[in-house]
Amino acid sequence: MIGDVAVHDAGRKGKGVFALRDFRKGEFIFRRRHGKVVTVSQIRSLSAEDRRHLCELDRKKSAVLLPPGCFLNHSCEPNAMRSGVKVFAWRAIRRGDEITIDYRLNAFSGERSSCACGSASCTGTTTLDFFSLDRPTQRRYLPYAPQFIRREYRARKSDAGVKRTTPASLRGSDQPTRSASSSARRS
Ligand SMILES: [Zn+2]
Repeated sequence: MIGDVAVHDAGRKGKGVFALRDFRKGEFIFRRRHGKVVTVSQIRSLSAEDRRHLCELDRKKSAVLLPPGCFLNHSCEPNAMRSGVKVFAWRAIRRGDEITIDYRLNAFSGERSSCACGSASCTGTTTLDFFSLDRPTQRRYLPYAPQFIRREYRARKSDAGVKRTTPASLRGSDQPTRSASSSARRS
């Protein structure tokens, strides 16, 4: 619940969201509220503050996030996960810990951004793109990713499958063609 978290200073990262109690792995933490939803062309008309708190809903629309959810910081090794607007514990969270999510879950811009998350695997820069994650992480995140990311994941996977498993000399023969087109229809 919103009463279980508080916003306060998170050092170099500005403000952050902190746990006011312990959370078990998998436990629901709070719901992140969306303000107005804008199209890509409307982003320009937003205030600088609103532009800092955008969440991509798909390739065409973004939502302006409201407090406290807009202050959730990114971590390359987050302790929370998001599924739509629901934020839940990805691992056990102790009271007082900063709650972090992985911005790459729904990102596709490929923009490189400096990262101050301080986690062991952080290189100091993060690429804002789901597909910049390593494959095992993509697989773990996939069930929580928005539709448009899941669709692209399946499309990329079936492309890779066709290329990898089908020698050029066999392409166009019945078996691989049928399986490639049926997976394209599914996605
Ligand atoms: Zn990082």
